[in-house]
Amino acid sequence: MIPLTEAHTYVLQGCAPLETASTRSAEALGLVTAEPIMSNEQVPPFNNTAVDGYAVIASDTAGAPVDLNVVGAIAAGQAPSTPVTAGTAVRIMTGAPLPDGADAIVMVEDTTTSDDQTTVTINSSVEAGSAVRRAGEDMQPGQQVFDAGTLLQPGHLGVLATLGIEEIATHRRPLVGVISTGDELVEGAQELAPGQIRDSNRRTLLAMVEQAGCTPVDLGLIRDDEAAVEAALRAGAQQCDAIITSGGVSMGDFDYVKLVLGRIADMRWMQIAIKPAKPMAFGTLGDTPIFGLPGNPVSSMVSFELLARPGLRKMMGLTGDQLDRPRISAVAEGPLPRRPDGKTHFARVNLRWVDGTALIRSAGGQGSHQLSAMAGADALAVLPDGDGLAEGDSAIVFVLHGD
Ligand code: AMP
Ligand code: MG
Repeated sequence: MIPLTEAHTYVLQGCAPLETASTRSAEALGLVTAEPIMSNEQVPPFNNTAVDGYAVIASDTAGAPVDLNVVGAIAAGQAPSTPVTAGTAVRIMTGAPLPDGADAIVMVEDTTTSDDQTTVTINSSVEAGSAVRRAGEDMQPGQQVFDAGTLLQPGHLGVLATLGIEEIATHRRPLVGVISTGDELVEGAQELAPGQIRDSNRRTLLAMVEQAGCTPVDLGLIRDDEAAVEAALRAGAQQCDAIITSGGVSMGDFDYVKLVLGRIADMRWMQIAIKPAKPMAFGTLGDTPIFGLPGNPVSSMVSFELLARPGLRKMMGLTGDQLDRPRISAVAEGPLPRRPDGKTHFARVNLRWVDGTALIRSAGGQGSHQLSAMAGADALAVLPDGDGLAEGDSAIVFVLHGD
């Protein structure tokens, strides 16, 4: 058996960021920038007001309450017209440009307007710059706003829209094929004949691929048949940037995935000192990375989380901490027992926060076939080789719902 860190390093060195493509900003959610993004304008583009109120000369308000003559009004979207001179004010709405001469805004709540709207009483004084949003306060021309390697989230798309940047260079989104194998598997709601089960891994893994930020490609349920497995793998490698297989990588007699990949691909068959997900294969078919995940439903998910997901995220253009799930320290609310066996166990746990402390408890049955507990789990708790956790013990956990 090899340590998980060795398998992780091996997978990552076999996955390279995909090439750069020109992408429409509107379609870039979840993609990764391949170049820094520069601002070419100042944002905000002009001095404007943060509140509804009156544009004034701050020094005029020093002896508040004071009366000022209202000489105009300006709404958002209008160009500034009437300037503000000593003893006057302009009614102004949030986002409207600051009129010439004005250096502060008094919010409407601190004013009283005369019935004929020609005079305003300023009830409290303001300092110069008060409630003014300065041109360029957010971004300046020539400023680098995002680094290369930024995972684009909704706010980033908003910044691109603000700057009028409609095309950017990103890494291409990986197309990731998923194949499930096994003669015992059937698809859909059909009645199960003796010995059959429904194929759940393909559905799960396609969804995990999508949540990791890649485009899933359903390559189907393939029979335990050498020619069928080979044809599916070759076609998948043509079409996709990476392939994930489920099943057939352990020691069974009908593990044709192992047989075929051993013949046509350059694979490393790993026995990793973890439970679940001990067997895992990684390699390349041509230059397409292949992730051979174990068939047990929980094992395939854990293997994806710990090894395939980091590899796929590297292909997306992510680096460093962005590859793996966040890890935090948590305290066991109840026992999480295990037996010594030379492996690190990943227990499926629920996580809750109490007064800033993360607390974990078992999410249910811990067998590698017990998918329901994995489905409901918030985190994987790392149980080093030994007897597990007693109530109150601390552990590192991988949080499953987060970048
Ligand atoms: P294998 O890795 O092919 O030896 O399969 C290990 C276990 O996982 C067996 O109990 C299989 O029936 C089960 N299994 C394999 N593939 C799937 C799948 N796609 N969906 C659900 N269970 C599976
Ligand atoms: Mg099988």
